[in-house]
Amino acid sequence: MAKDPGGERLIIRNVEFIGGMAERHGWRPDSSLPEIAFAGRSNVGKSSLLNSLVRRKSFARVSRTPGRTREINFFRVNNDFVLVDLPGYGYAKISKEKKAEWRPLIESYLKRTTQLRGIVLLLDIRRDPSDDDRAMLDFLAETEVPAIVALTKKDKLSKKEADERAVAIARGLALTSEQVIPFSARSGEGRFELLEAITDLVEAVPETETR
Ligand code: GDP
Repeated sequence: MAKDPGGERLIIRNVEFIGGMAERHGWRPDSSLPEIAFAGRSNVGKSSLLNSLVRRKSFARVSRTPGRTREINFFRVNNDFVLVDLPGYGYAKISKEKKAEWRPLIESYLKRTTQLRGIVLLLDIRRDPSDDDRAMLDFLAETEVPAIVALTKKDKLSKKEADERAVAIARGLALTSEQVIPFSARSGEGRFELLEAITDLVEAVPETETR
């Protein structure tokens, strides 16, 4: 049964671009809001997922600006959290050198942030995770930041195939089924579940504060 979208706890009222981090030691926002980061290889469907989640023309405009695609872009959502759009990694069509650029930038962000409450890693539902995807998950496991996996382009498979892929990917990455959310930017399937999961991360009290 479809869930009632009126029951959404997170209603995105306002999204404001607050800036980009272009270099390892470069600018990052001085904010005390929780941060939720989105990561995935180029072409996985990250812009489509974020546009579907946020539904703001201004958001799409910023993320399409040339130069911004290699930066880490920060958006304030309501006054609730900061959405961190990490650069897409590991695109096969660019040189090895360029390929490696994302790593120090993303690692530097992850090391510097004190606000990160969760990360949404995007994987194409039809593909097995790449070495870069696994490296990202291993890195996150080390930092102990909770991860959710969004399986993009669900509409490209039948329901049965999509369910089977979700189970196989969760098992392969040793994740629970709650951590894996099949998603389609085309149909909007999974949007509610993803917003719920993000709200849980935003509202969770960080472990460091409970000790
Ligand atoms: P990014 O590089 O990760 O930001 O990926 P994009 O959002 O630009 O998407 C890459 C390609 O995948 C585009 O051609 C999109 O139209 C397509 N795409 C993204 N999400 C979906 C989806 O949910 N369903 C389908 N069928 N195609 C998608």
